[in-house]
Amino acid sequence: LAHMMGVVEQTLRDPTDDKVFLLISALIGIYIFRGVGTFLGKYFIAWVGREVIHQLRVELFGKMLRLPSHYYDSESSGRLISRVIFDVEQVNDATTRAITTSVQEGITVILLMGYLIWLDASLTLIFFAVVPCIGAMVALASRFFRRYSQRIQKTIGDVTQVTNDTLNAHREVRIYGATEYEEQRFLKVSHNNRRQVMKFALTNAISVPLTQQIVALGLAAMIYLMFQRVAGDTTTAAEFLQFITAASLIAKPLRALTDINSSIQKGVAAADSIFTVMDAETERDSGSKRLQKSQGAVDFRDVNFCYPDTERTVLSNINLSIKAGESVALVGKSGSGKSTLANLIPRFYDVHQGSVCLDGLAIDEVTLGDLRDQIAVVSQSVALFDASIRNNIAYGSLRHCSDAEIEAAAEAALVTEFSQKLPLGLDTPVGENGTLLSGGQKQRIAIARALLKDAPVLILDEATSALDTESERLIQQALDKVMKNRTTIVIAHRLSTIEHVDRIVVMDSGHIIEQGSHTELLAKQGAYAQLHHVQFVDSGA
Ligand code: ADP
Repeated sequence: LAHMMGVVEQTLRDPTDDKVFLLISALIGIYIFRGVGTFLGKYFIAWVGREVIHQLRVELFGKMLRLPSHYYDSESSGRLISRVIFDVEQVNDATTRAITTSVQEGITVILLMGYLIWLDASLTLIFFAVVPCIGAMVALASRFFRRYSQRIQKTIGDVTQVTNDTLNAHREVRIYGATEYEEQRFLKVSHNNRRQVMKFALTNAISVPLTQQIVALGLAAMIYLMFQRVAGDTTTAAEFLQFITAASLIAKPLRALTDINSSIQKGVAAADSIFTVMDAETERDSGSKRLQKSQGAVDFRDVNFCYPDTERTVLSNINLSIKAGESVALVGKSGSGKSTLANLIPRFYDVHQGSVCLDGLAIDEVTLGDLRDQIAVVSQSVALFDASIRNNIAYGSLRHCSDAEIEAAAEAALVTEFSQKLPLGLDTPVGENGTLLSGGQKQRIAIARALLKDAPVLILDEATSALDTESERLIQQALDKVMKNRTTIVIAHRLSTIEHVDRIVVMDSGHIIEQGSHTELLAKQGAYAQLHHVQFVDSGA
């Protein structure tokens, strides 16, 4: 464009049609060229940024699926969600604008510096004297940028956590008059977030002009010395002008470079948080033995267990042999360790002492995938996905099951009983975590899912607690049928539902204190008999 100004001037002197046409074409040409350049620059840089974010996000999510259970016990879900949503986005600027600016402006600074050295090396050295000051300034600012970035990420995690908590418990919030309390709680975390963002902005607002100030001091020193030289006749006016122009041109790219420091530090802090998760240890899957179809014999040998990062022993000296096809009920006060014991079988947690065996093989010698293929679990808290009833029953590796199999499982678990009254039958969506269904209906879907899995080991942890007596009786009949040819571990508070199992194991404070059949234990007049008596009196009352 600068060159064209000269051509315009020449055309003006002799404006023939050809020359004007050429000029106009050149002008349009330049703008098309520039337009294409802008497009490519903007589009592809955005593409690079989004690709980085997309891949980080996918990898992070994949990692989260493979983290051990105890990771979720200690990390807040809000912080985990905000890592995937917010932290990952923070890397955007650092991988796009920061890179282009560093390259573009970095090259400009280097070239201008080279030119200055060529013009007058000794004077340029004066300017170099400020470089350590700039370095110190940038390093100091970087520390603050990173600190505030980390806090911003944490506070966004808090905002997510409070929102998530409140949305999940929106009924409790209303019934217990907590609307204002939650508003205050949200106000606090949001305010905290704003404060950290403002501190970040303040650091940026202070560090950029301060760095400029240091650059200006360097320039001023140079100009002063240059004037001394002009006065002493050692430099011509032309040299002076060249030097001053080049020196002042350096200020802008230097400013741009200090400006993007905040983006880079933001990206570094975000990457730090993302990679703490990426580098966390995944679930240990060191077993190499394959297991196609196990018999279902489960052995606990001298098992002692405490949850990671806790001191208290939750299970002590557990020795329990469950034969293939046997049904065993775990009973005992809440908190006695029943669920913990059951959770050790699919290796949601690893035992520290003793071992758990399946068909005589220590479960940590079997690949995790194969081990879990042998187990179906129905737990107290039913997790449903925002999909149809059918897809919730045929979930995961079960999605290849035939319609007939799915319908048979739905029938056995009494899902059909309510689904046939729905307009879309089994294809009715259940809503987020099954909000459109009752507790009992959700539990029936979970039971159907376990029945469909047809695994050799079935764990029922309070699986029928949300059902009414009539449904429970009917489902119990269905469960009795499936329990016949597989190992079943039942945890139930209502003792009436477990009277028929092969063996009842009574637990107290992490110990097994009694075991035997219903009649044997009643005759023994021990802890079971007492529990039974309490429930009998309760239900009789
Ligand atoms: P039960 O199923 O008999 O009611 P649990 O096995 O759920 O008992 O709990 C046994 C003990 O372990 C309880 O004292 C409980 O506080 C503790 N506990 C349960 N889950 C965890 C966990 N994820 N982290 C730490 N402690 C836990």
